[in-house]
Amino acid sequence: MRADSQAPPIRKRFGQNFLHDTSILTRIVGAIDPQPGDALLEIGPGRGALTRALLERVEHLHAVEIDRDLAEGLRRAFPSERLQLHVGDALDLQLAELGVRPEGGWRVVGNLPYNISTPLLFHLLDQVHWVRDMHFLLQREVVERMTAEPGSKRYGRLTVMLAARADARALFGVPPGAFHPPPKVHSAVVRIVPLAEPRVPPERFEHFAQIVNRAFSSRRKTLRRGLAGLIEPGDLEAAGLDPGERPENIDVAGFDALARVLRNR
Ligand code: SAM
Repeated sequence: MRADSQAPPIRKRFGQNFLHDTSILTRIVGAIDPQPGDALLEIGPGRGALTRALLERVEHLHAVEIDRDLAEGLRRAFPSERLQLHVGDALDLQLAELGVRPEGGWRVVGNLPYNISTPLLFHLLDQVHWVRDMHFLLQREVVERMTAEPGSKRYGRLTVMLAARADARALFGVPPGAFHPPPKVHSAVVRIVPLAEPRVPPERFEHFAQIVNRAFSSRRKTLRRGLAGLIEPGDLEAAGLDPGERPENIDVAGFDALARVLRNR
């Protein structure tokens, strides 16, 4: 399995920053700790740096790559019985349609293109019952938002929507020099493990998402003002929330309590 010597041009629009630091690759694979038989799915294999490191630990890997030129290189570098490549947009990916239903769920990994990392995360969270865990290399700021505590500057919609369905843990930072070309920002590796029992039950999820979206679209406003029109007077008190509180101080259980009030109205 050799790297492609005739590398295609680097496409900024696809968020291409290729990992070349072997110690970081080893650390990422160590964090994933792939076991023989694991169903691994890599998002954006690019030139195959992480792919190659993973294939030292598992026999077979699925991957989704949008760039046709890179996909061509990957096909040349890895035999199809080792790497099953899906050429297309990961944002359209339906795990149920990959043709396999791994018993333990998919282990999704990737050095994600930063421009799609948040929508991709939400897309995968919508299919979370197919997922065992996810390990992503992301912009450090996004990882901080994923793992923020209520009351902190980074706490927001991403934190709450993620915490409703999964646990997220920041593992370690990765400096710009580990990539080619180096990105302008620092990166970090995050582990996301879906909860067996989501913190917000499916029947309330739509209301919950609506409230969270609205609350954080005006995070400087109090709950009373920010949610005006969506909730009625008394709903916040009925949910045990202080109407003068700001959304950044409300945890998942608080937003869920309000979703329950709205649903039962
Ligand atoms: N895994 C490689 C590495 O670590 O060197 C490449 C990582 S690079 C940050 C992101 C990769 O995702 C690129 O190969 C890019 O072409 C691919 N990509 C970008 N947008 C994508 C999308 N919507 N669906 C699938 N792959 C995408």
